[in-house]
Amino acid sequence: MGRIIAIANQKGGVGKTTTAINLSATLAEAGEKVLAVDFDPQGNETSGLGLEKEKIQNTVYEMLVGECDIENCLVKEIQKNLDLLPSNVNLAGAEIELLEIRNKEKLLKNYLEKVKDQYDFITIDCPPSLSLLTINALTAADTVLVPIQCEYYALEGLNQVLKTVKLVKKKMNPSLEMEGVVFTMYDARTNLSLQVVESVKAALNENIYNTIIPRNVRLAEAPSHGMPITVYDSKSAGAESYRMLAAEVISRGEEL
Ligand code: ATP
Ligand code: MG
Repeated sequence: MGRIIAIANQKGGVGKTTTAINLSATLAEAGEKVLAVDFDPQGNETSGLGLEKEKIQNTVYEMLVGECDIENCLVKEIQKNLDLLPSNVNLAGAEIELLEIRNKEKLLKNYLEKVKDQYDFITIDCPPSLSLLTINALTAADTVLVPIQCEYYALEGLNQVLKTVKLVKKKMNPSLEMEGVVFTMYDARTNLSLQVVESVKAALNENIYNTIIPRNVRLAEAPSHGMPITVYDSKSAGAESYRMLAAEVISRGEEL
């Protein structure tokens, strides 16, 4: 039975999508069967994996509003062992259209349940908000992975996500656990990165992954070529770091 990991932080641009794409790709490379769910109307994960998002007919939005069942929305084997549930700007309408629906927080959970046993891991790339979409992701998830950018305001954003996780756990999803926190865009040349890591470590009573994702230009370039880092530059520091993170995520499964 697959572990569903929501990758969430309401702060924008912290590396959620980069982590969603490359953790999914490195888990798949390690032989795990993975479904990547793009749950952001920006569709960055979808385009980052090489699809023309505007041209896709059956996205996660069509699934949520009942126009298409999940099996028909999946893009199978976008990489070996990796399937994608794509998204595009249509999903922006879901927030409003779904307001009237009963159990609107559980929609994603109910759909993913139909395919969960086909995968070892399901990752969900969340939008930069604590909206109905993110609540759906957290309600569907077994665990939450929070990427933190190594910059000054990191802790502020983090407290907000943790509060939301607690709330969803209490009201909607009692078995939700913190997967952990992963530092992204670490710049070894600045003191600031190191200070942020140390202050978050001191303040936080959650699992923090040993792997720290460095700032790496190859990671920033890969999406414009529509490739995960494992394909775009398999030997880069970025690829190596996501491989280490994947190994930790796999072994963390034994603790959870
Ligand atoms: P949003 O909140 O808009 O969804 P996000 O949290 O998904 O953003 P990303 O899109 O993953 O963040 O990253 C933001 C920007 O930083 C992108 O341009 C991405 O290419 C770049 N980036 C992310 N991680 C790294 C890294 N480790 N090294 C270099 N650039 C990175
Ligand atoms: Mg994103």
